[in-house]
Amino acid sequence: MSPSRIDIAGVSVSPQHYINGRRVASSESFELFSPIDQRPLGRISEGLDEHVEAALQSAGAAFPAWAGLTAAERKPYLDRFADEIGRRADEFCRLESTDAGVLLSRMRHGVVPRAKLNIAWFAQHALDLQNQPIETDQAHHIVRHDPAGVVAIITPWNAPLMLSTWKLGPALAAGNTCILKPPEWAPLTCSLLADAADAAGLPPGVLNVVQGTGAKAGARLVGDPRIARVSFTGSVSTAKWIAQAAGANLVPCSLELGGKSPFIVLEDADVDNAAATGALMYRNAGQVCLAGTRFLVHENIAQKFIDAMRGYVEKLVVGDPRDEATEIGPIIHPRQMERVQGFVQRALARGAKLLWGGDRHSFGAQYFQPTMLTGLEQDDEIVQNEVFGPVLTLQTFKTDAEALELANGTDYGLGGVCYGQTDHATDMAQKVRTGFIWVNSFGIRDLAAPFGGIKRSGIGREGGHWSFEFFCDVKDVVVPK
Ligand code: NAD
Repeated sequence: MSPSRIDIAGVSVSPQHYINGRRVASSESFELFSPIDQRPLGRISEGLDEHVEAALQSAGAAFPAWAGLTAAERKPYLDRFADEIGRRADEFCRLESTDAGVLLSRMRHGVVPRAKLNIAWFAQHALDLQNQPIETDQAHHIVRHDPAGVVAIITPWNAPLMLSTWKLGPALAAGNTCILKPPEWAPLTCSLLADAADAAGLPPGVLNVVQGTGAKAGARLVGDPRIARVSFTGSVSTAKWIAQAAGANLVPCSLELGGKSPFIVLEDADVDNAAATGALMYRNAGQVCLAGTRFLVHENIAQKFIDAMRGYVEKLVVGDPRDEATEIGPIIHPRQMERVQGFVQRALARGAKLLWGGDRHSFGAQYFQPTMLTGLEQDDEIVQNEVFGPVLTLQTFKTDAEALELANGTDYGLGGVCYGQTDHATDMAQKVRTGFIWVNSFGIRDLAAPFGGIKRSGIGREGGHWSFEFFCDVKDVVVPK
C-alpha cells in the first residue's frame, strides 16, 4: 500500500488517489522512477475497479450542485484554484522536472504560468456561455450550454500539468465534474493539482484524481456508461482503444494525438532564423507532440541550412532538467529509449545517412544525442512514424508542389512550421493539411485559438469555444413570438 505522502525533490506529495475530497490508498501500487537517473521515487497507488467506481459515484453525486451554479458562481472557486496552483509554482516545477524530466526553465516560465491561466481563463470565458440568444421573425431561441456530466480526462507523460489543466479548465468552468487519470510515468503534478483544488475549497467530488495504469484505471474509466465525455491526449494506438470503449456507449471523445509535423524551409527563407528555430525541436528531448520533426528544405539552400542548424545544435546544453540552463533532458523511460534507438538503427540499416547524433548521449543512460537523418524515402518508417525523441529527418525538394506533397504525405496532420518570405510561406502554410501551422515562428499559442489535429493526429479541437462545445450539451429552447 502506498503511504499517504512521499517526499520528492523536497516536495511533500501524495501517491494516492483523491476521491470525494479525500486521499484514498490502494492495495496495489507500482514503482515510479525518475528518468534523470532511474532512481525509484516511491510507490504510486494503482486505480482498481473499486477506486474508479468510487470516483464515478463521487463525481456523479457532486454534479447536480456544481452544474446548478452559474458560471459567475463557479468562477471564484476556479480563481482560487488558479491562485493555489500559483502558490505551489516551485513545487510543481520541482516535481515535474523530477518525474517527467520536463525542463525546469520550461516549467517555470511556460508550464506553470500557463496551468494557472488554463483554469482562470476558462472560468472567465464561461461567463459568455450563458443564454446566447438567436432572434428570428418567428421565435426567440435561447441557446444553452449545459454541462455534459461526469467527464473523464486522460493525459500523457510529456506534459501532465499543462494538458490536465488545459482540459480541467473548460470542463470545470462549464459545470462538469471531472475524473482525471494522470500518466503512470509522471503522475506527481496531477496529485499536487488535487491538493491545490482542495485548498481552493472545490466541493468534494468536483475534481477526482484516480492514479494508475492505462490498462487498469484508464480502461475501466473510459468504458463506463456513466461517463458523459472522454477528453484524451496521448498516442494513436491508445486512442483507438479509447474510441472503441467510449464508442460502445456512444460517448463523445476528444482525441489529441501524435504528430509528424513538417518543418518547411522555402528557397526564400531566412536560413539562419529557420535553423535557430529548427534546433528548438530538440527541446524536451523531442518529446513534444507539436514539434516539426520532418525537415523539408529547398535543395538550393539545403547545405547552408544544414551548416547553420548544426551550429545551433552543437550549442544545445544536454543535462539534468532540474538545471535551469539545460535544453535537452532525458527520455522518459527505458522503453521509450529502446523505441527511439530502434527507429534510428532501422533507418540506418535501410541506408539513411546521419548528419549528426545517432546514439546514446554520454550524459546518462536515458539520454540520446540530438540526431538528424537524411537520405530517406517518403515511405521510410522514420519519415512516416512519430519517434517522440530527439530524432529529426531532413528531405530536400525542388518545387513548392513537391514540398507540399512531402508535407502532406503522412497519415498525421497535427502541426507544422513554414519558413520563407511571409506571403510565400503563408500561402504554403494554408495548403498544408494540418490542424495548425506556424509561419516564420514556432510555438505561439493563444487559449482562444483552436488546437488539434486532422487525420491520425486526432478528432476534435480544444481551445476557446471549441473546448466548451465539447464539454457542453448545447440546447436550443425555442419560444415562438
Ligand atoms: P499513451 O497513449 O501511452 O498514454 C496516454 C494516457 O493514456 C496515459 O495516461 C495512459 O495511462 C492512458 N492509457 C493507456 N492505455 C489506456 C486505455 N486502454 N484506456 C484508457 N487510458 C489509457 O501516450 P503517452 O506515451 O503517455 O504520450 C505520448 C503521446 O502523446 C505521443 O504520441 C504524443 O504525440 C501524444 N501527445 C499529443 C499531444 C497533442 O496535443 N496532440 C500532446 C502531448 C502528447
